[in-house]
Amino acid sequence: MTEADRTAIRRKIQDEMERLRPEIERLREVTRPVAPDDSIGRLSRMDNIVNIGVNKAALGKAAARLAGLEYALTQLDSPDFGTCAECGTSIPLARLLAMPESDLCVRCAE
Ligand SMILES: [Zn+2]
Repeated sequence: MTEADRTAIRRKIQDEMERLRPEIERLREVTRPVAPDDSIGRLSRMDNIVNIGVNKAALGKAAARLAGLEYALTQLDSPDFGTCAECGTSIPLARLLAMPESDLCVRCAE
């Protein structure tokens, strides 16, 4: 992997983290439970529970991705970065750019 590749991947990771952080903030905000004495009515309350569930799932996914990206950033300068942890082949740059948090090649990830 060239220095230019690493720079491109680092930029991609940082962009992705910048995008995820406010998104995670927003999801934390909307998954906060509504106080029981709020008079939003029974149907709205049911709606709200469903929405919170959906948003909690999205929050879990976004938080996991952010953690993966933070980890990828710490590994970027390691000589093993970009090498599949399973089979040891080089992971194509396109995949590293799309999913910098993955340490598996497409074949091993399946
Ligand atoms: Zn592999």
